[in-house]
Amino acid sequence: MELESITRRITAAETAAGRPHGSVRLIAVSKVQPAARVEAVLQAGQRVFGENYVQEAAGKWPEWRAAYPGVELHMIGPLQTNKLKLALDLFDAIHTLDRPSLAEKLARQVQARGASPQLFVQVNTGDEPQKAGIPPDQADAFIADCRALDLPLTGLMCIPPDDQDPVPHFRLLRQIAGRNDLTGLSMGMSSDFETAIAEGATHVRVGSAIFGARDYG
Ligand SMILES: *Cc1c(COP(=O)(O)O)cnc(C)c1O
Repeated sequence: MELESITRRITAAETAAGRPHGSVRLIAVSKVQPAARVEAVLQAGQRVFGENYVQEAAGKWPEWRAAYPGVELHMIGPLQTNKLKLALDLFDAIHTLDRPSLAEKLARQVQARGASPQLFVQVNTGDEPQKAGIPPDQADAFIADCRALDLPLTGLMCIPPDDQDPVPHFRLLRQIAGRNDLTGLSMGMSSDFETAIAEGATHVRVGSAIFGARDYG
């Protein structure tokens, strides 16, 4: 079970960064993993999970939620507006608020339901054309627009470019969050979560290092 070693590494990274124990939330990313692997991690006590696909999550999590009280589910993949209602039924947090049309539809749903999931604005820190997220130079305006829509924001999220040092991206995200009074920083994955914690991550999204490689077969 790799969960225990990842949890230990997170604690060590918190200590090394002079941050209190428990200041980083581990999101175990279970997308496309076999049920047996996810169940083993649930049985080991992990309750916070991340999924990328609404349909996939809808097929497996209602049952696990019933069987394992206290599950907290985070949506970390691109969210299509036609799946928004289903997503709001399923998820406790959305890390991929990445465009005005989604913010507007989300605001209407949140108002109708009288409740909101935790919300993170995804910032495309590398300005990559193929990647989702608000460009860094438009982030302040987008955050202000979300607030004008009464959307309660928890923080920001980024996925740095594959082929670059993630540190400048983590720092940029932290900077944008700081000047907008946002405390949540969803950053860091299997390969760089300790670096992200040193740079202030509050939520790390770790998949393959816990569950093993994903088989998309
Ligand atoms: C799949 C995924 C992860 C987990 O990636 P690993 O490298 O397996 O830890 C984290 N964040 C997002 C947005 C993902 O899509």
